[in-house]
Amino acid sequence: MFDSGYVSDPEKVDIFEETVEALKALRVAGYLLVIITNQSGIARGYFTTDDLEKVNSRMSSLFKEHGVVFDGIYICPHRDEDRCTCRKPLPGLIFRAARELDIDVSASFMIGNSKSDVHSGIAAGCRLNFLLGGERGSLSRENTLSVDSLSAAAEIILTLEVL
Ligand SMILES: [Zn+2]
Repeated sequence: MFDSGYVSDPEKVDIFEETVEALKALRVAGYLLVIITNQSGIARGYFTTDDLEKVNSRMSSLFKEHGVVFDGIYICPHRDEDRCTCRKPLPGLIFRAARELDIDVSASFMIGNSKSDVHSGIAAGCRLNFLLGGERGSLSRENTLSVDSLSAAAEIILTLEVL
């Protein structure tokens, strides 16, 4: 959703008004908001789980100040070579969130800025998968869409009928 590469300094967390409004609209429509993120910087030793928690709690409180609460933040701390089942493009964390939060994946949407986000959503069976910015034209699957922003994705989601 927000990609500044490896963010390990809570002071560098920033959020966008447009993102806030889009997330609020989704929440009002009844969607849960879950963050699923690969953070191999932990396994690589760039920062610790503790650092990441500080960043996440800073981000969460910034959003909260603006009226957006996340229902879950799921983190894969591994690298490719760790061969875990939770690192996107694998769907492990989506399934875990679905289990723990009682979410119907087939009525859910993945919004991400990398192909691995989209592929994890496809693997999990999400209803639609949105690729934000860049990499346009690189999508071939039917249930994927390229959009410019999270607000554009939210607008589309809100026009769909709830399953
Ligand atoms: Zn993992």
